[in-house]
Amino acid sequence: SAAPLGSSVIPIVNKLQDIFAQLGSQSMIELPQVAVVGSQSSGKSSVLEALVGRDFLPRGNEICTRRPLVLQLLQTKRKGDGSGEDEWGEFLHLPGKRFYDFSDIRSEIQAETAKEAGGNKGVSDKQIRLKIFSPNVLDITLVDLPGITKVPVGDQPSDIEARIRTMIMSYIKKPSCLILAVTAANSDLANSDALQIAGNADPDGYRTIGIITKLDIMDRGTDARNLLLGKVIPLRLGYVGVVNRCQEDIILNRSIKDALAAEEKFFRSRPVYNGVADRCGVPQLAKKLNQILVQHIKSILPGLKSRISSALVSVAKEHASYGEITESKAGQGTLILNILSKYSEAFSSMVEGRNEEMSTS
Ligand code: GDP
Ligand code: MG
Repeated sequence: SAAPLGSSVIPIVNKLQDIFAQLGSQSMIELPQVAVVGSQSSGKSSVLEALVGRDFLPRGNEICTRRPLVLQLLQTKRKGDGSGEDEWGEFLHLPGKRFYDFSDIRSEIQAETAKEAGGNKGVSDKQIRLKIFSPNVLDITLVDLPGITKVPVGDQPSDIEARIRTMIMSYIKKPSCLILAVTAANSDLANSDALQIAGNADPDGYRTIGIITKLDIMDRGTDARNLLLGKVIPLRLGYVGVVNRCQEDIILNRSIKDALAAEEKFFRSRPVYNGVADRCGVPQLAKKLNQILVQHIKSILPGLKSRISSALVSVAKEHASYGEITESKAGQGTLILNILSKYSEAFSSMVEGRNEEMSTS
């Protein structure tokens, strides 16, 4: 099954890529990058992992993410032989080495972090670049960033906070970057580093999604309903509340699947979240992101359309010029017709928003 992120977008992108492939050119659909920001230990890495649907990031209750991790998801063709070897990771610093075991990916991230940033809590702005190849993912880039901290510990320099903020800004200031602003529910939203830095990079809030983690460990007698409704700090794209694995779950190696089931149960068993079910849980977050990506694709459609049209014209011309020396004119005609009908089908379904996920509910 597809990773939660992209499940509804993959068929659309694939259709467009098919068309481009038939026209002999590369797809030109560039999806926005997605970066997570927030305080240290707010749950950023946990949220990214849940979106990808695999366990591979270092997570923990002290500083874990100490270098930016640029995670490029790349869709591969399904092998379908059940070998389970059609998903793997590859690091830029270890070209050609395929990691089929995702826990080895985590160890390599830790080792590579230590290599550049030392063993004692140091932070470096030098990226780790990881590609994940899978038939179940969307071609998109996700960025896991170190969290904002205030007090230098270990080998950290005295200006650690300013350095981390500069590093984060260098990613999220790009107008094409979607920002997942992560705040733990057991801290005060008005003190949120995530919303503060996201607000600097994206003052109008067109590309910031608020994520409230740790709903399971809020002070007894409180809940996040008003936060999720945007009544505390409004956010144009709104908020999603999630429950990720706690530190004990990590130590006990609890699976993502179990964690998602537990999250679902959490929300189902609390009446206060019943009326805001569309803002609760990792699957809803994935849905929200998918809708934003589909909107993005729709917005670049006119440009794609004209590129496809001109490519079609040149294909037709090329075939016409070969016409005299080729045997089967019928064959060429069929090819062009084929391309044409695929092209118009794909476009009309996208423009009309026939795809279920595209109608914003
Ligand atoms: P990051 O520093 O922002 O990347 O945060 P991590 O994803 O590494 O998580 C920090 C710690 O918080 C880990 O011990 C996680 O197990 C824990 N954690 C993250 N999200 C939740 C959550 O929703 N509920 C609970 N109980 N713990 C969480
Ligand atoms: Mg992290």
